[in-house]
Amino acid sequence: MLTIDGSYGEGGGQILRSSLALSMITQQSFCIKNIRAARSSPGLQRQHLAAVNAAVEICQAEVVGNQLGARELMFRPNKVQSGEYHFSIGTAGSCMLVLQTVLPALMIASGKSTVTLEGGTHNPFAPPSDFLEQCFLKVLKRIGPGVELELERAGFYPAGGGLCKVSIEPSSFGLRPLEILERGRLLNQEAIALVARLPKSIGEREINTACRILGWPQSSRSVREIDSPGHGNALLLHVEFENVSEVVTGFGKLNVQAEFIAKKAAREMKTYLASDAPVGAYLADQLLLPLAIGSGGVFRCTDTTPHTLTNIHTIKSFIEKEIKCEPLSDETVLITIPDT
Ligand code: AMP
Repeated sequence: MLTIDGSYGEGGGQILRSSLALSMITQQSFCIKNIRAARSSPGLQRQHLAAVNAAVEICQAEVVGNQLGARELMFRPNKVQSGEYHFSIGTAGSCMLVLQTVLPALMIASGKSTVTLEGGTHNPFAPPSDFLEQCFLKVLKRIGPGVELELERAGFYPAGGGLCKVSIEPSSFGLRPLEILERGRLLNQEAIALVARLPKSIGEREINTACRILGWPQSSRSVREIDSPGHGNALLLHVEFENVSEVVTGFGKLNVQAEFIAKKAAREMKTYLASDAPVGAYLADQLLLPLAIGSGGVFRCTDTTPHTLTNIHTIKSFIEKEIKCEPLSDETVLITIPDT
C-alpha cells in the first residue's frame, strides 16, 4: 500500500484528488496522511468528502476514514465502472474539483458515462466551469476522449445550487500524445461578467474596467444576467488562440469593489499575454495527470507553480515517469511527460 503525505509541497486538496484518480487508474491502494495540512481548515471538507465518495462509487472502493474533518484516509480501488452518476456536494463546494477527481478514470473506462454534479460552479481557488470548458476540455479532447460539459445552472458561494451535466466518451484508440509549444493566431478575446440576483451595473463596471486596462474594444464586452439560487458574480476574461485558450476569472466578493476585482483579473491576463507561453499556470497543473496516464506530451507554460510541482510529485508516487520541467531562456518553462 502506498503512503501519501498530504502535507507535501502545496499541501492542499489536489494531492488527495490526484491520488484518488491515480489509484483508480493504476489500481494501487493508498493511505494518505496529513490531508490538506497546509490549509486553514485542514482535513476533509464537504467538497473533498464528496470527491472521495464519488471515487468510491465509481469503482466500488473499500474506504476507511471518509468523514468530515478526517486527516487520514485509506482507499482500496476496484475496477472503474462507466455509467450514470449523480454527485451532490451539499454545499457551495466546487463541483469542478469533484469532476477533476473522477474524470481521468472515467475517460479511459470501458464505456460512456454521464455525470451530474450539484454544488458550486464558480468558486474561488477552483476552476470555474468556463475554464474547464474553454481551456481544459478543449485540450483534453485533442488527446482522445469526448467530454462535453453543460452548465445548467450556476452555483456561487455561499448558496451553491449549481448544476452541470458532463458526458464522457472514452476514445476507442486510447490516449494520444499532446504537443503545445506555441499559441498560434489570436482568434478571439472577450470579457464576460456573470451576475446572478445582483445589479447588472456590477458586471458593467467590471467589463469596462478590465477592458480599459487590456485595451479591448467595446465589441468584446458582455454582461450575462444568469439564474442561480443565490447572489453571485464572476468576471471571465477569455482569450482564444489557434492552439490554446486561457480564461482568467475574477470572483465577485461581498464588500469588495467591482473595479478592484476587475483590475486584479486584468493584471493577471496582462501577465499571461506578456509571456508567449501557450499554457497558463492553472492549465499546466491540470494537464499533467491526463498526459501522465496516457502517451505523455510536451507543453510550454508560463511558469511552474507550487501546484504543478506538487502534482508532479503525486503522479510520480503512482507512476514511474520522469516528468521534466526545463526553464527556457525566454522565462517560459518546458514540461515534458514521457510516453512510458
Ligand atoms: P487545491 O488548491 O489543491 O485544492 O487545487 C486547486 C485546483 O484548482 C488546481 O488544480 C488549480 O489549478 C485549480 N484552480 C484554482 N483556481 C483556478 C482558476 N481561477 N482557474 C482555473 N483553475 C483554477
